[in-house]
Amino acid sequence: MSMPTRKPGAMSSDLSLQARAVPDAEADEVLFLPLGGTGEIGMNLNLYGHDGAWIIVDIGITFGGEAFPEHDVMMADPEFIAARRERLAGIVLTHAHEDHLGALAYLWKRLRCPIYATPFTAALARHKLARAGIDDATLHEIPLGARIEVGPFSVEYIGLTHSIPEPNALLISTPAGAVFHTGDWKLDDDPVVGQRYDARRLQALRREPLLAMVCDSTNAVVDGSTGSEAGLFEPLRELVLEAAGRVVVTSFASNVARLVTLARVAQSVGRRFGVVGQAMERMVAVARATGYWPDDLPELVDARHLGYLPREESMAACTGSQGEPRSALVRMAADSHRDILLDPGDLVVFSSRMIPGNERPVERLYTRLRALGVEVVTDADAHVHVSGHPARDDLRRLYDWVQPPAVVPVHGTPRHLRANADIAGECHVPRVRVIENGDLCRLGADGPDVLGRVHNGRLGVNTDGRVVPVPAQALAKMRAAAC
Ligand SMILES: [Zn+2]
Ligand SMILES: [Zn+2]
Repeated sequence: MSMPTRKPGAMSSDLSLQARAVPDAEADEVLFLPLGGTGEIGMNLNLYGHDGAWIIVDIGITFGGEAFPEHDVMMADPEFIAARRERLAGIVLTHAHEDHLGALAYLWKRLRCPIYATPFTAALARHKLARAGIDDATLHEIPLGARIEVGPFSVEYIGLTHSIPEPNALLISTPAGAVFHTGDWKLDDDPVVGQRYDARRLQALRREPLLAMVCDSTNAVVDGSTGSEAGLFEPLRELVLEAAGRVVVTSFASNVARLVTLARVAQSVGRRFGVVGQAMERMVAVARATGYWPDDLPELVDARHLGYLPREESMAACTGSQGEPRSALVRMAADSHRDILLDPGDLVVFSSRMIPGNERPVERLYTRLRALGVEVVTDADAHVHVSGHPARDDLRRLYDWVQPPAVVPVHGTPRHLRANADIAGECHVPRVRVIENGDLCRLGADGPDVLGRVHNGRLGVNTDGRVVPVPAQALAKMRAAAC
């Protein structure tokens, strides 16, 4: 699509060819441009523009998987904003999941702007930057619920609930109007760790001068309401009570609430508990440092010592729920883990969901575990996992509270985006627009209007650590296969 003619005056002369055609945001408008995460689940990268300036909201990764075996990690190509870096006021992070901050250390040198995050997210961002040898990034640690000024944007952090500490929605305000960017969320009345959501603040959003709500679509195809994290304690406890041998539970490392639940289950049945796997050990350390690990839990048993405990007295949480090749559980299944060996009669619980695309490695892992005589329980067998995203009834509730004049679904494949759009329509949201990565949108009184498309490629990390563009043909092939 070619760019329509707009008012002259805001164009910069040193922009790259594709970016030169795009006028900068003017003082009377808010632009929205997703470069990643809209049309796919993963690698979120959103841009908001106003009065000649831009902010990035989230900067995440996705995994190459079987479509791109040459790249472990992939991310949105930030070319559009890198070409106008002098207009980039900051990177605002909603939460610490890899699909929201994983690309920070890979891309920061191309962007060189201040970073804003709440304490838990900031701790993980700091770790990533340090590991990449970046010591000159300015990282502002923002208190929960704070409002900050980033360029011409006033950004209020509004705490929600999800599957990691400190998930934040953002109310992004400008003199031309405001946008409610939900980030990843669910409505959990008992999230186990961290604050509850603030229903009153969310209901008060309808009185803000909103232009649009940009909303998580991950579970828009799921009926009902997403369950509470607290509802997992009893079913997990029952499973562990019945187990005669060793118990190993794999889950997402970042789900601190799940790890706390597992620690409480172990405590309640008299088993000693520890976590195994680098990512999980780091997450517990960050949770402790930021006050999310309860003081009343027994000391964790070091991974090196767990294997020496009698099988019926120990319980471990570990990485590997997606069959990741170097993870703790994959090593245990291959009988090559340094600390823990599995025997016939042991129990392995997958307190997780299988991320689409990981079917083969996860199935392989099940097969290997069963070949060892291990009992495998997944979320298909028992209530051992709950999502962090809103199902249809939750979306309806939030739309009813906020009553936005317009909705732009994000964080989903086209099917998820359309499902979310249908729900918004049912909830009498006057204007709903399904867009995709690269669509430059004007959020306004009659919009959202798509003004045109900008380049939206992907970058991949090579085995030697270099970040390289993924050829357009390869992406086109992947998209065609996904349809
Ligand atoms: Zn998330
Ligand atoms: Zn996400």
